[in-house]
Order: sequence, then C-alpha cells, then structure tokens
Amino acid sequence: MNYRVLLAGLAVSLALGGCATKPVNDASLKSGYAAEEPRHKPLKANDPVEMEPKKWLVADLETRALEDANGPHDLAGRTLEVSSLKDIKLADKEVILTFDDGPAPGKTNRILATLDKFGVKAAFMMVGEMAQAHPATAREVLAHGDAIGSHTFRHPDLDKMTFDAAMTEIARGKDAVTKAIGTDVPFFRFPYLADSKRLRTAIAAREMIVMDVDIDSKDYFTSTPLSVVDRTMKQLYQRGRGIVLMHDIHQRTVRMLPVLLSRLEKEGFKVVTLKYKPTPAPATNLVAQADTKMVR
Ligand SMILES: [Zn+2]
Repeated sequence: MNYRVLLAGLAVSLALGGCATKPVNDASLKSGYAAEEPRHKPLKANDPVEMEPKKWLVADLETRALEDANGPHDLAGRTLEVSSLKDIKLADKEVILTFDDGPAPGKTNRILATLDKFGVKAAFMMVGEMAQAHPATAREVLAHGDAIGSHTFRHPDLDKMTFDAAMTEIARGKDAVTKAIGTDVPFFRFPYLADSKRLRTAIAAREMIVMDVDIDSKDYFTSTPLSVVDRTMKQLYQRGRGIVLMHDIHQRTVRMLPVLLSRLEKEGFKVVTLKYKPTPAPATNLVAQADTKMVR
C-alpha cells in the first residue's frame, strides 16, 4: 500500500512543545527548544490518531531519497536580496527552508550536508544560548553560506513578558549569535511565533527582519519523518509557495530532509536563497556628506 494512502486523512492533535506552539506552563518555557522529544498532552478518547507507515516502508523511502541525493540537482532557485520584511516575496512554487532552535552538533551539520547534496541553502534561526554553547557548529552554518537569524536568548514566550523584558531577550539573543559567528545577524524569528504589533515595530526599527512562517512542518510532533514530509507537502500544495518552518534539533528532521528535498525537486519546487542586503543610506545623507567634502 502506498504510504500516502496510509497517511490519508490524518489529523494531528497529539503533542505540544515545538517552536510554533505556545507552551502550556513555565517548566516548558525552559526546555521548549532544547528537548529532543516534545512533551505530550494525554490523548483524549476522541482524538484522532495519526496512522504511521510501516517501518520497512519508511526505511525503503528514506534509502531511495538518499540515493536520489547523489544525482545532479535542479532544486536551487533564485537568490532573493532582502533589506526588509516586504522584500520577502515568493513566486509560485518557491520555498524558503528555515531551521529553528539550533545550532545542535550532530544534527545541524548533517542538515548542512543534506542541503549541500541538493545544492540549496536555508536560513537558520539560532537560539542565543545554543549558539553560545556550540559556536563551532554556528560557524559551520555561516561557512556554508546560509542566512542566519536569532531567536532570542533562552526561547521564552515573549507574549507573556513585559515589553522591556522581551526586548532585552531579543537583544541578548542577537548579541550571543553575533558573538558566536563573528558577524551581525539581521533576521529574527519569534519563539512559538508569539509576536505582537509593538514588538514587530520595535524590531523593524532596529533594522532586524522578522522571518514569518507560512508552513509549519510540525517536526516537533512525535511522528515519523515521512509524516512530517507529507504534512509539509500538503500545506505547500494548498498555498503554492511559502516559508517552511523546521527545527535542526530533532533527529526526525535530519532523517526526513532528504525525502522532503527529493519530493520538492520531483514536483517542480525551487528553494530560494536569502541574502541580506543592508539598507542603503538615505540620499539626503549622501548629499550632506558630499557637501562636507567640498567645504573641506
Ligand atoms: Zn523555536
């Protein structure tokens, strides 16, 4: 039986604890990003249960995806130069791959290797504390040529903090990632996607670019790598394009990535590379500088 048939009709309401899901208590704030496996809500009697494909089928598809990875590729799309949020505009069948909550040695670097095989780049939104703990892995991402952003220092729900405390978290996270990789990081993503208009405005005023999410792979659920691929592709077909949220701290994400990239390629999607382009100084300043030079 085709694994898509096995997965048909699935609806997931199993687990809480990933990046895009708000934490349920204070204990989860501390471990929300670093936990290898997410915490569970007890299943209610009427909760739909996700059907998992057979293990042998999973292994077979993953092996085939890895074999596909060795061939020549046509998955890389255009390079999108970004100075502000409004520049992130995708055409039909374009995707941006994003990985949150790392860097995590043993996982982030395997994700980089898979991206390399398919000739594409992604964006890594690093938690300050993680970058501080694993600077070598953070620098591997930089050397790979991916876009890098910050994701606060400790991954709290900023929505539950005062404005000033939230801004301090954001600044501390950005500083820690900047220090780890040795260069400024312009992109930013809200933990649990818990944003507010006031915080977004303040972040834009500091010339940081908020990386929103169109498609949540929900790779923090305890489902198989193939369920993650299936869920992501379904949403992509509904929207036609989008920024895909994944996490480079989960083993299942490492395993599913070759399958996802292989499917994206076969189905004609293109992975867009993000490149930060600082905003040019306003023309008036240039005139003022020119005038000063003439006077001197
Ligand atoms: Zn996160």
